[in-house]
Amino acid sequence: MGAMTFQYTKTDTHYVQYYSEGAWEEGMLINDDFLKMPAMATVLHYGQEAFEGLKAFRRKDGKVQIFRPYENAKRFQLSCGYLLMPEVEIEAFVQAVIKTVKANLKYVPPYGSGGALYIRPYMIGVGQTLAPMPSSRYLFGVIVTPVGALFKGALKPVDLLVSDYDRVAPQGTGQYKIGGNYAASLFAQHLARQKGYDDCLFLDPATHKKIEEVGAANFFGITKDNIYISPNSPSILKSITNMSLKYLAETSLRMKISSDDIDIDALDHLVEAGACGTAAVITPIRSLCHQEKVHVFPTQDEAGPVTQKLYKLLTGIQTGDVADPDHWTTLVE
Ligand SMILES: *Cc1c(COP(=O)(O)O)cnc(C)c1O
Repeated sequence: MGAMTFQYTKTDTHYVQYYSEGAWEEGMLINDDFLKMPAMATVLHYGQEAFEGLKAFRRKDGKVQIFRPYENAKRFQLSCGYLLMPEVEIEAFVQAVIKTVKANLKYVPPYGSGGALYIRPYMIGVGQTLAPMPSSRYLFGVIVTPVGALFKGALKPVDLLVSDYDRVAPQGTGQYKIGGNYAASLFAQHLARQKGYDDCLFLDPATHKKIEEVGAANFFGITKDNIYISPNSPSILKSITNMSLKYLAETSLRMKISSDDIDIDALDHLVEAGACGTAAVITPIRSLCHQEKVHVFPTQDEAGPVTQKLYKLLTGIQTGDVADPDHWTTLVE
């Protein structure tokens, strides 16, 4: 979301590993970043695809570390499982990520640049079938690309349009990181951008009264009582950035954490609001437009003080400047 310097640049190698006849084959690093697959592959017609997104950072001492890969590994298992795709063991996932980063170390942006190596693990059904059913053959891949800081300098608050459309169903695929959810939110996002907003915010699909999340980032607020509040629902994707911010708010800033609902028509208790995810860490929210009414948060064109503190802490841990609180980072030896 926001201004995009989030572009794909080809790196040296990427990881591919095939699954067929009930077992994983040996994984390998290859150079060609085009895949060959049957035109009738299940991913192409029935959307059998799950993915992850995480980053590797260059530290001051020149070494490279990956932020919370074990959390991505766990979530990937849930996403693949729901789409009836085979499981990648936690350690196998992390090793594939490390192997791919290691083979592309020269693309990890320098310390202090605000950039990182974005890591995209994914799984797709590549077996051919005409009937809408799970594939018999799968590809697990990891591809990496350097990305710049989304915002240079200060965190720039954004204006969001509350969407009339839903990203996912109430008991559907919202908690899984799958390509289909993105295809389903493109139109709503396009409408918001066309009307001049930075992105759209989705409400809960059952009642359309409660805030859920932005298309690719969770929503959080800071209340007047200094509580970090972020809604919980089966249709929200469990952001690892959000999980990390909650931990830091609680342990470093001694704040209370709440997962209460946030009524879209009652926002006056929030003194700060933001969207959080791997891509930008935190994007402060300036305003929400809902049914022609605009709610502007008190911080307006600035990032609020709590938002700024959380951002500094989390990005500090990612680049190794702030002590790792709980084995969050994995060093690439
Ligand atoms: C990936 C994603 C997020 C952010 O999750 P992180 O683990 O923090 O990167 C939030 N919402 C959706 C829908 C996502 O796909």
